[in-house]
Amino acid sequence: MRLRNLVVTFILVVGCSAEEAPPSTLSFTPDRFRAHVAFLADDLLEGRDTGSRGYDIAARYVASQFDSFGLKPGGTDGSWYQQVPLQRTTRGTERGTVTISGPAGERRFTHADNVLVRPSSREAELDVEAPLVFVGYGIEDQRLGLNDYQGLDVKGCFVAALSGYPKGLPSEEGAHVSAINAKVAQEHGAIGVFELSTLQFEKVFPWDRMLQYSSDPKFDWVEPNDKAHAEAPLIRAGGFLNAPAAETLFAGAERSFADVRQEADQEKGAPRGFALKTRIRVQSEARWERVTSPNVVAILPGNDPVLAKEYIVLSAHLDHLGIKEVPGAKADDDRIYNGAMDNGAGIATLLEVARAAAQATDKPRRSMIFLATTAEEKGLIGADYYAHFPTVPIGQIVGNVDLDMPLLTYEFTDLVAFGANHSTVAKYVEQALSTMNVALSPDPMPEQGIFTRSDHYQFVRQGVPAVFLITGYANGGEKAWGEFEGGVYHSPRDDMSQKFDWKAGAKFAEANYRITRALADSPTPPLWYEGDYFGDVFASKAARAQR
Ligand SMILES: [Zn+2]
Repeated sequence: MRLRNLVVTFILVVGCSAEEAPPSTLSFTPDRFRAHVAFLADDLLEGRDTGSRGYDIAARYVASQFDSFGLKPGGTDGSWYQQVPLQRTTRGTERGTVTISGPAGERRFTHADNVLVRPSSREAELDVEAPLVFVGYGIEDQRLGLNDYQGLDVKGCFVAALSGYPKGLPSEEGAHVSAINAKVAQEHGAIGVFELSTLQFEKVFPWDRMLQYSSDPKFDWVEPNDKAHAEAPLIRAGGFLNAPAAETLFAGAERSFADVRQEADQEKGAPRGFALKTRIRVQSEARWERVTSPNVVAILPGNDPVLAKEYIVLSAHLDHLGIKEVPGAKADDDRIYNGAMDNGAGIATLLEVARAAAQATDKPRRSMIFLATTAEEKGLIGADYYAHFPTVPIGQIVGNVDLDMPLLTYEFTDLVAFGANHSTVAKYVEQALSTMNVALSPDPMPEQGIFTRSDHYQFVRQGVPAVFLITGYANGGEKAWGEFEGGVYHSPRDDMSQKFDWKAGAKFAEANYRITRALADSPTPPLWYEGDYFGDVFASKAARAQR
């Protein structure tokens, strides 16, 4: 799971119905599941960081497993791999400064002192100064009835935008519109974007936790023209301002930052933007290196002469955070981020579903792609690269099931299916789970903005209906998630010393197998629902289903 930064309170409601199971000879065992996770989370793999030897060994393991199941290589040039060209951007000796000047004088913040300056992937020595405009949440979306740029001229300016989205917006739509705020700013002619911490944001991602990632390099995939890919290439600079720095931006303005933040914390609170009286200067140095790291891809051809041209992609990220400093740790403390749950558990699920599908006596009708991605923790980059340069035509990819960090420390009795209710995928998920006596629950943590935080989102952006399941809050799940999020997630403690319930792993694999098979065997491919927001935004020409 990737760290992201979004906020809201809305609950998705999905019902359950009972239908019959797909026939199969299923054999999901706790031992096999454990064996995969134990290998992937071993210290020998050093946390599987993108571009590292440990990651490459993990990739070789996955390819070798695919091979043993009798799958076909699905990478480039007949190999198991799709090499992803990456640019790694690190800070130079000038780590980054933000100077704010205006009616209250001048204040300079260095990187990690209440500001985070994003190192530039396109300008090695950046020095840019411009006036500032506050743009509320910086959202412009007709369907959601939001236009934060109305009446504002931001040409040549930096925009200051609240992180997240107004309380009360559906969490998945909200997570999406918030994730594209730089693109919207660029369309209005802005040259920089600073996100401002909200009260809600502080609760979910306290500043200490933001700091934990402040020295991490930034990754982008490299375009065929050899430039680092950017969603908003005309946005030259940006970053994040913690409250004390954000307050100085509002010196002499018509409203204080505290006032604006209070309004934003109300239900549906969406403060209107206005020009600020301050200017901002951003200086930073960046160093770039080229790195290559593979996605691992396997194909299981479908056995239906017509449907075999269509593909269901089952994806899971293989990378994790590698070896790095742990805040507050002593010299001899563990520094290996093994990523047993995140995402050894997801890869184990991917491998088990691949094995079961390849060995099933009743072969899937559609073809299946099994995709282990790189650089997910760097911003869903391996999956974005695959979705831009798929090894089969993107129009033939009709559905995606993503696997990321199911929590397997308790006997789960419910699952949460992010994204399912936008398309007929919901129906297949309900059917598959009802045969296993597993309930389907609404998103229990909408404030986490999970929908844009894993690889399936990159398929959604290419118009492909997708779903991503995690274990739910029932039967001890809420407590288990609380403990995991409260200090294990993205720490060296996410290792094999956790109290895994390996039976839960086998059961999770079976659930995902049944869902994937239902998608692969259905006479019609998954369809976006009529009037669905994501279908309208990303697949406006695709066939629809009635809800
Ligand atoms: Zn993660």
